[in-house]
Amino acid sequence: MHLSFSRLDDNVARFIISGFPSAFVNSLRRTMMGEVPTLAIEDVLIYDNDSALFDEMLVHRLGLIPLRTDLSEYVFTKDCSCNGEGCSACTSVYTLSVEGPRTVYSRDLIPQDPRAAPVDENIPLVKLEKDQKVVLEARAVLGRGSEHAKWQPTLACGYKGYPRIVFDSKCDSCGMCVDECPRDVLEIKGKKIAVVDGKIEDCILCKLCERICVANADTWDKPAISVQTEDDRFIFDIEGDGSIPVRQIIEQAAKVLQTKSDSLVDVLCDISGGNIND
Ligand code: SF4
Ligand code: SF4
Ligand SMILES: [Zn+2]
Repeated sequence: MHLSFSRLDDNVARFIISGFPSAFVNSLRRTMMGEVPTLAIEDVLIYDNDSALFDEMLVHRLGLIPLRTDLSEYVFTKDCSCNGEGCSACTSVYTLSVEGPRTVYSRDLIPQDPRAAPVDENIPLVKLEKDQKVVLEARAVLGRGSEHAKWQPTLACGYKGYPRIVFDSKCDSCGMCVDECPRDVLEIKGKKIAVVDGKIEDCILCKLCERICVANADTWDKPAISVQTEDDRFIFDIEGDGSIPVRQIIEQAAKVLQTKSDSLVDVLCDISGGNIND
């Protein structure tokens, strides 16, 4: 089992994961999207809304604003000592009061806890004309993407098999696949077709190179280039919404998977009377 990062910053990561079956890699993807908690606005008390948007639409937009989430500071409402009443340990409170004419932005949402402020200050919510106003109080709580997409910490989260491109001896280096490739992965090197150094991971497995190769050869029924993927090696790409760092998303997802796997082992032990190999 091996994991190596080619990029890791606060909001974006790319890593190569090898030695795992695709089922495990897919579980990791689903866990990152659906099981890592973030804060999102859940309840809104509207005092005034003269805007062109219905209350429901305004509240929906508020819910989708990514909020900075310190997982060491907040607990789920159901696990809180306030018994779901809402307190500073489980709920982040915001106020918003804006009068037109102007656009209401996410920066107008004033948090009681500055650590739970909107990730981006410039998300437009609604445009107010003269004499229109919006006054409200909002409450954000922890939740999971499996309950609602507003709690997903990832904007993009996916993987592909690690590409392997093989050339046949019948290749005459005509170069058509080089021109066809949308990611400039191929080149004519000397008099031979080859993968550009360091570009193999850019291949999107579209197989346009295979198609153009076979389409222009009169007698071949198979292309001289073959795009394949390695069995247990994958390229993983994640883009976070900024609510929590991408590194933490990966770590939290790994912990969730570990906990679920431990519970499964316990259940299997119970069923088999203590020996899961039986
Ligand atoms: S793989 Fe096919 S299209 Fe590409 S250079 Fe060789 S013969 Fe031409
Ligand atoms: S599969 Fe697509 S991206 Fe990959 S080398 Fe062929 S044309 Fe280029
Ligand atoms: Zn509480």
